[in-house]
Amino acid sequence: MNHKLSRRIFIIGLLLAIVVALLGGIFLKDWVVWVAVGLFAVNLIQQAAFDKCPHCGEWFSFRAPEPDFCPKCGKKLDE
Ligand SMILES: [Zn+2]
Repeated sequence: MNHKLSRRIFIIGLLLAIVVALLGGIFLKDWVVWVAVGLFAVNLIQQAAFDKCPHCGEWFSFRAPEPDFCPKCGKKLDE
């Protein structure tokens, strides 16, 4: 898995977790909200594990926009 795929999965997973949490809130099902929390947690772990520089291993914060060049080692990231 590369960092771009990881970032895409992170965004999709985040939206999915929000939708599931809202559904749980609407239908007053606590377990559905916990599923959303679980999705969110797995997604955070996924992002922490894979959204990083393939050259030097520098981790990219999900709060920052996806970089084209590694801020640490300066190498291009899209290969
Ligand atoms: Zn790097």
